[in-house]
Amino acid sequence: MKSLSINFWSQCSNNCLFCFCREKDLLAEKVGAPVIDSLIDLSRALRRHRASCDWLIISGNEPTLNPNLLKAILLAKKNGYGAEIRTNGRTLKDRKFCLKLMKAGLDSIGITLLSHQAKTHDFLTRTSNSFRETIQGIKNFIALGNASRLVIYVVINRFNFRHLVKIVSFCHKLGVKNLQLNFVYHNDKEIVPQFSEVVKPLNKALTLATGLGLNIGTYGLPPCFLGEYQKLAIELGLKNEVILGGRISDYNYLRTNLGKRKTKYCRQCLQKNTCEGTWKSYYNVYGEEEFKSRPAKIKANVR
Ligand code: SF4
Repeated sequence: MKSLSINFWSQCSNNCLFCFCREKDLLAEKVGAPVIDSLIDLSRALRRHRASCDWLIISGNEPTLNPNLLKAILLAKKNGYGAEIRTNGRTLKDRKFCLKLMKAGLDSIGITLLSHQAKTHDFLTRTSNSFRETIQGIKNFIALGNASRLVIYVVINRFNFRHLVKIVSFCHKLGVKNLQLNFVYHNDKEIVPQFSEVVKPLNKALTLATGLGLNIGTYGLPPCFLGEYQKLAIELGLKNEVILGGRISDYNYLRTNLGKRKTKYCRQCLQKNTCEGTWKSYYNVYGEEEFKSRPAKIKANVR
């Protein structure tokens, strides 16, 4: 079964330097922007897609600002879907709101955390106090017994990649059980670090996380830069998402044909049939030469 993914709200309380919602929207706009903006539309869509989908992801900008969010979750549950939201977590600083989400039947929540330090997080969200509120939201949700339903998304970028070990350790101390490290999608060298710079701190962070028993995955990093942790790439088992309203409604197609590509060096790689390569935006910044020596290393590993 697939997931049904909707952008149900157009505003956000943060203003992140590298907002993926906007990037995903831009990709989607090339093929027709998805529009679901009422509970009636949502109800129809949930019924229409129920035969192929069993999970609703409410993302896109900040869904907790939508006054219809709780009703949307209730609708999803009524129609037999699991319900998930992706959020900056700030609204969850209100414990009562957490309780309402749980009462509505929310099954999973993804909260984006960009640093273990307020200064860096607030700089990246371009919003003062966002760190304090997000952390309070994470604490509230965990204190209510929901750690297993919570995934923390860390967007790896130039300003935090050297701190990945500290971020993992910080999350563990908060009581987080599930972490996903997503490589930033952007066209600016000031924001996008090079894979070869990221490999060392990333490797240390993955070693720490697995040693601590955290459930950790990566997204957007090609296997040839993940070394022994290639199996942690979530792309290997990513459930397909149906995106509502666009002429292309299949997120796997959107991601692998419009968002990502491989390099000329990938032809020699043993993983070329399962690998998605990486974001096209990355090659715009750094080109392909960094991949030159990668395929051979993978062959050696596989043998
Ligand atoms: S196919 Fe290309 S990007 Fe993917 S693992 Fe191989 S060398 Fe890396």
